[in-house]
Amino acid sequence: MVYEEVLEEAKNREITEKEALYLFKYTNNTEKFFSLLKTASYVRDKHLGKEFKLWAHIPSTTKGCVTFPPCRYCWHSSRIRGIKSVNKNASPEEIVKMAKMAEKMGFEGVQPGGGCTGKMGKDAIEDTEIIKRNTNLKVYVNYGYDMCEESILELKKLGVERIGCQLEVINPEIFYRIKPGDNLDKRKQIMEIIEKHGVGLDSGIMIGVGETYQDRVDAIFYLKKFKNLKRTSVCGFLPIPGTPMESELPATSRDIAVTIAIMRLVFRDIDIEGSFGRDEQLQQWIMAGTNIRLIHGLFRLKNSRDGFNKNPFKGKTVDVTENFQFTNLLPFYLKMIEETGLKPGLKNAGRYEEK
Ligand code: SF4
Repeated sequence: MVYEEVLEEAKNREITEKEALYLFKYTNNTEKFFSLLKTASYVRDKHLGKEFKLWAHIPSTTKGCVTFPPCRYCWHSSRIRGIKSVNKNASPEEIVKMAKMAEKMGFEGVQPGGGCTGKMGKDAIEDTEIIKRNTNLKVYVNYGYDMCEESILELKKLGVERIGCQLEVINPEIFYRIKPGDNLDKRKQIMEIIEKHGVGLDSGIMIGVGETYQDRVDAIFYLKKFKNLKRTSVCGFLPIPGTPMESELPATSRDIAVTIAIMRLVFRDIDIEGSFGRDEQLQQWIMAGTNIRLIHGLFRLKNSRDGFNKNPFKGKTVDVTENFQFTNLLPFYLKMIEETGLKPGLKNAGRYEEK
């Protein structure tokens, strides 16, 4: 294979597993890195245009993940209290307020909460019902394998846009090493049930946790078989202080971008986004072919001391309810997107104040 020829072909057709592995192995200098990103941007623009979608994360009625033992990289396993104790459930009225505010700003949709809460999707249904009854927003729910067929059917009835069940790592040895309380087979089963009922699926991969390039290719092409896959992502490992994996190396920004770009050459017309908690890399992800971002940290618990799960960008903060506040991080997101030549998909340009 010749590197530039593979990229030239990729402009017009999906790459094969062998080509994906080749690109992982041989994107080994800056010139090739730029060529790969340029091709991924070309494919994104050709299939999805120049609009960059924006979604907002909002708190949910649930308190968060109960996986035990917690994943070894997650802030739930941190021994540092300020990082651990950040979750508080929102009341239905608080969710309505935050969702309405997100709608007013022009977001395409919202994701309430997340994590495996032990409720088998009941909280996802409750949150979706509240949001759908009070707004026209699209809703994405993400509770890992903590879901069941009944809840999936109920969510379908409510018109959920997609249900998340992240694959993370396809190699079982690595999966259980970093996620001892999680269940890879159940994740796969839930993905199959979501697919069986024709509901939008959201599933992505984690990198930088000891997997090989072949593991990544296997994971990407495993996801490829889901016809209802609506969004995928690359989560680059980021060590969190106080966790058992705090002293391991993070995934580099370049490795995340290469993986996103190769995924764009496989998944031509579905939404792809970057990594949780590393939004300072957004422009590089856009160059690598992403077309969507779910922004965390806009709506937060007042006075929360979370040292990790905190968006590093600053903005004007206003109270939304007695417990939650909104920080206007949008101007910097809009600037980052516009500088890349894409148009932010935010209907009201992020305006949230009463006129
Ligand atoms: S399932 Fe997700 S939220 Fe729960 S412990 Fe693992 S990484 Fe953390």
